[in-house]
Amino acid sequence: MANLLVTGGAGFIGGNFVHYWNAHHPEDFVVVLDALTYAGNRSTLAGAPKAELVEGDIRDQELVESLLRKREITTIVHFAAESHVDRSISGPDAFIDTNILGTHALLKAARSVWLAGDGRAHRFHHISTDEVFGSLGPEDPAFSETTPYAPNSPYSASKAGSDHLVRAYHHTFGLEVTTTNCSNNYGPYQYPEKLIPLFLLNALHGRDLPIYGDGMNVRDWLHVEDHCRGIEACLARGRPGQTYNIGGGAELPNITVIDTICAEVDQAFQSIDKLADRFPDAPPARGERSASLKTYVDDRAGHDRRYAIDESCARAELGYVPQRSFDGGLRQTLAWYLDNEDWWRPLL
Ligand code: NAD
Repeated sequence: MANLLVTGGAGFIGGNFVHYWNAHHPEDFVVVLDALTYAGNRSTLAGAPKAELVEGDIRDQELVESLLRKREITTIVHFAAESHVDRSISGPDAFIDTNILGTHALLKAARSVWLAGDGRAHRFHHISTDEVFGSLGPEDPAFSETTPYAPNSPYSASKAGSDHLVRAYHHTFGLEVTTTNCSNNYGPYQYPEKLIPLFLLNALHGRDLPIYGDGMNVRDWLHVEDHCRGIEACLARGRPGQTYNIGGGAELPNITVIDTICAEVDQAFQSIDKLADRFPDAPPARGERSASLKTYVDDRAGHDRRYAIDESCARAELGYVPQRSFDGGLRQTLAWYLDNEDWWRPLL
């Protein structure tokens, strides 16, 4: 039996993690600390039986210390962040505040309660991204845990800063930390500004599918449930001080992802009764194909060309193996958005 503090648990990956943890570890209790920014949503946690949402900021060290003490927390799983690259280009300050200063406030609180306090067994698990490693050429080997950091956007630079602080608190103070650097996540509860939910919902509403540049930027796609499985394995078997890469084994150019979305939406209109009544503006409702909505727009400033993940270390040490294929995971994601209009409709 353990009490976990999950920061950012009302967001996309954190929310999925809370549901995953409740289902797989029903004896544990999860305290979610979330500031409920635009990306946080109370309704993401609806139906999570053993979770409590505390609305608050990770930068509030006093609040974090009091939660660690009063709720007898032994594990922090740290998701809270500003997470959207485009927003980091138009307004970088919030990324420095939350991702660097916020992570530092959490580390200070953990050090003060866990190390200077009762010396209890603990784990600080930090969620990071493959974007800290920069951009790959087409023939370059995939990112490994020893690839030098070369972040290119204010978002990835702020995540890199937080990773370094987590590492330093282990090396200097002995805090028991682990970090996972994961690839692009997709799945239920993702805020519809990110590629997959944005394009799914745009296709359903007959809106343009705006493709950056030539559409050939490559990402590795990780279903969020596989990611949760990887974090669980890291909490169970990860070595303190170590970082692990977590990927989905699905390296694809954006244009392939977008074509797959269009094909899945077209297929859904053929197989699901009355879908055309619910989404009359979707091309398939008018006998057209969703691909007619594709349109090319100016590329994102500084857009990284390719990310790829070498996850052999997580496979060997943690026993991590992604279980969802991209096609199956995308079909499940579309089905979830079709079944959960109440969740996403208010966000539009
Ligand atoms: P998200 O934007 O969906 O959710 C972030 C959550 O953090 C929100 O609930 C928000 O309210 C909360 N939050 C923001 N600032 C806060 C603060 N100061 N105090 C407390 N809560 C705050 O993000 P996500 O996609 O779920 O990403 C979670 C983590 O995973 C992030 O650290 C992100 O960098 C990392 N990551 C995400 C992806 C991806 O594909 N989504 C890929 C790699 C790494």
